[in-house]
Amino acid sequence: MTSGVKGGSRLKVPLLDLTAQYGTIKEEILAATMEVYESQQFIMGSKVEELETKLASYSQAKYAVGVSSGTDALLISLMCAGIGPGDMVITSPYTFFSTAGSIARLGAKPVFVDIERHTYNIDPECLEEGLAAMSADERAHVKAIMPVHLFGQCAHMDRIQALAESWGIIVVEDAAQAIGSEYESSDGSLHKAGSMGTYGCFSFYPSKNLGSFGDAGMVTTSNADASKRLKILRVYGSQSKYYHKVIGGNFRLDALQAAVLLVKFKYLDQWTERRRENARLYRALFEQEGMEQIEVPAENKGKHIYNQFVIKVGTERDALKKYLAERGIGTEIYYPVPLHLQECFRYLGYGPEDCPVSVDAAARTLALPIYPELQREQIEYTVENISSFYKL
Ligand SMILES: *Cc1c(COP(=O)(O)O)cnc(C)c1O
Repeated sequence: MTSGVKGGSRLKVPLLDLTAQYGTIKEEILAATMEVYESQQFIMGSKVEELETKLASYSQAKYAVGVSSGTDALLISLMCAGIGPGDMVITSPYTFFSTAGSIARLGAKPVFVDIERHTYNIDPECLEEGLAAMSADERAHVKAIMPVHLFGQCAHMDRIQALAESWGIIVVEDAAQAIGSEYESSDGSLHKAGSMGTYGCFSFYPSKNLGSFGDAGMVTTSNADASKRLKILRVYGSQSKYYHKVIGGNFRLDALQAAVLLVKFKYLDQWTERRRENARLYRALFEQEGMEQIEVPAENKGKHIYNQFVIKVGTERDALKKYLAERGIGTEIYYPVPLHLQECFRYLGYGPEDCPVSVDAAARTLALPIYPELQREQIEYTVENISSFYKL
């Protein structure tokens, strides 16, 4: 590596730079959104339908239902599954708030099960033990497992699905960070994120691999009945206008967002490949520098789409973050407080000892810039600075 750190080469390496991507597709985006302006059809319509068709097929699901956000994708899926007061849903504490928030908002109880040390996804061992430790009465209240494909890598779906089947409960995939990610089953077959559970929940929040110009989301399912009910719940619970058999909400995806997403979707695989190349470069550079202090992300078979590239260091993590920030390098902590220790979930009665691996990860992980437009020299500069931090 040549660009000397001490020489004061002041590269900027933001955690994410959406303007770089916008520059490459600006004309197409303007044309596509202009169509919506001219039509004045802002609610549902052909753009939303086209996006749903494309994403169902991309995610190997029979149906896709566009919704207002990733959070709403989770919420409407649980509503569709009839989950409510008295029910329990098992999930990971090491995820974004919405995963467990959607459970609690329906009056159901989130049950947290710890994660695997190296992938940060829900640990099937803990899941099995957790279920086995419940009384038959308690277990009767468990209605779903909600694995999160964290950072863009699928959770251990073979075992999760086998457990769900044996206990007669459904699987709701939180695939918010995992569009296009693939799980390799023990028989060697590949399965796209969102195709394995009864519901697959996606987010198009701008920082996700497929990001809208605001909030948007999608639910995938291969269950015809579920798809029908999702579409009813999405529009206030009315199948025909002004007649309500069930209580739904306004969970619609905007036509304008669909127009933006349709343009971006064409580039999704190419952008994901760039993220994967960036991840390979980080790995090679950390190895070249002989940096054993850094644990790079574990990669299972299948396909990691690197919504985030998260390293694990020691308790010096916060000092490293600060050191990098001073040198123009943006990083982030996903997530500083695991959900079982969040104030809003204190009533559930968890302590740190209940999910120790999550607590450890929260103290030691750091996400580095990984977005597709990142330049090689920016990655080199980032690794050089991490290396120089450890030489202090
Ligand atoms: C982003 C995200 C969500 C929420 O999606 P929004 O579109 O921001 O509502 C839910 N779960 C996970 C794991 C996420 O990363």
